[in-house]
Amino acid sequence: MRADHALTIIGGGLAGALLATLLARRGWSVDVFERRGDPRVEGYAGGRSINLALAERGLHALRLAGADGAVLEQAVMMRGRYVHPLQGTPGLQRYGRDDSEVIWSINRGELNLVLLTIAESHGARLHFDHALERVDFDARSASFRHHAEAVSHPFRALIGADGAGSTLRAEMAKVRPLGERTEWLDHGYKELEIPPAADGGFRIEPNALHIWPRGHYMCIALPNDERTFTVTLFLPHRGATPASKRCRPATMRWRCSASSSRMRWR
Ligand SMILES: Cc1cc2nc3c(=O)[nH]c(=O)nc-3n(C[C@H](O)[C@H](O)[C@H](O)COP(=O)(O)OP(=O)(O)OC[C@H]3O[C@@H](n4cnc5c(N)ncnc54)[C@H](O)[C@@H]3O)c2cc1C
Repeated sequence: MRADHALTIIGGGLAGALLATLLARRGWSVDVFERRGDPRVEGYAGGRSINLALAERGLHALRLAGADGAVLEQAVMMRGRYVHPLQGTPGLQRYGRDDSEVIWSINRGELNLVLLTIAESHGARLHFDHALERVDFDARSASFRHHAEAVSHPFRALIGADGAGSTLRAEMAKVRPLGERTEWLDHGYKELEIPPAADGGFRIEPNALHIWPRGHYMCIALPNDERTFTVTLFLPHRGATPASKRCRPATMRWRCSASSSRMRWR
């Protein structure tokens, strides 16, 4: 391996783990520093774990990394969007002509776990519990918080895959204007779950992405391989909401209160 083929990636999320795999497969020496603990030891600590709807573009990337088989084993096919209008009959709107044109529901944590395992199997070194804090670009040294300790690591080249609130980007902006701009969404979301039915099966059509469109707010549900649905309720931060009312889409019941953190399945 050439000495100049060494890269340090900040963030072992979806992009960081995938990139680590692709580069390690090409013979690069790769170090990944991830703020969270090892999800294979401590469980996935991703907080709200909205499922990903995986389409051809994502599958293509997974194929390049040799990860498509392991990911699809845990994914549930979604033939189309199953729309539940307030009035009228719910129904499936197919995404394509037939089952060769579908998307897949995959748990974010499981996808991340598969990618990390594959990256490591190709020789990438994963450093968990390392949160990037500062970068000295001149000295080529990155400082991390490792549990309670401050530790430094030299780097040859640094790649930021540390998500929307990237610390690396903030460090770069300190030394050079990046022209970055942040626009916050005016909606937030809350995760709910539809558990399996009493017989252990899915409660509603499994092979679809369910949508309850309600104008300024909406709900979606994506299937999981353990016969549950991960439900996401999107609500505006301001203005009229369905707060304190009982929401009753055709097949689901939950009670919403003014504080979204108190929403629960009923
Ligand atoms: C509500 C919602 C729904 C979405 N649905 C879909 C979908 O259906 N399909 C789809 O393709 N995409 C979807 N996305 C987009 C998708 O989640 C992102 O594109 C993807 O997560 C980006 O991956 P990433 O690795 O860049 O960032 P992340 O997944 O955010 O990973 C960043 C990683 O960096 C780590 N990190 C952060 N700071 C530091 C630090 N200082 N030091 C070290 N590590 C750090 C984090 O712990 C994390 O592991 C959705 C996004 C949202 C918010």
